[in-house]
Amino acid sequence: MPDFRATIARGSVRLVDWTPWLATSGPLNTLLQERGRAGVAIADLDVIREDDEATELVVRFLAGDRPAARAALRRHARDAGYRRLWLPDQVLDLPAWRPGRASTRCSGCRATLTDGEPGFWAAVRSSGCFPTVCPLCGSDLPQWCQIPPPDDDPSPTPSSEEDPHCT
Ligand SMILES: [Zn+2]
Repeated sequence: MPDFRATIARGSVRLVDWTPWLATSGPLNTLLQERGRAGVAIADLDVIREDDEATELVVRFLAGDRPAARAALRRHARDAGYRRLWLPDQVLDLPAWRPGRASTRCSGCRATLTDGEPGFWAAVRSSGCFPTVCPLCGSDLPQWCQIPPPDDDPSPTPSSEEDPHCT
């Protein structure tokens, strides 16, 4: 059984705990494929753990396997502290992870949530996912993105325009 179902739309990654009622094939497969044609990616994610820490993320696309969706998952895996990302035909070693501050915006009350405390990161590294529920309104949260530390070079890289974003 996978750990999470991921939905990637417009560069934003949402994760929910995997449950058996989620569609994988059968009659609902038509709707899954329709989502892919609409530019939405849906994937199941398996987490490989080492000493109770989520270290590698294995992606199986159900729909919408495109470069933008892969880039969004790569960013998510990097920000959440994974060491390696397994895509269907590609294994990516991710850059060394540095815990900083991370942020997201609630899709319900629109609050911007930011955290970077050791307890926050301990929960992320253990679960393999950022908090998914807003503590203010209970709506679901897009996966958080790390905020670059101020000492990072702010100059844009050539690929920055294609970088997924947190909204
Ligand atoms: Zn909220």
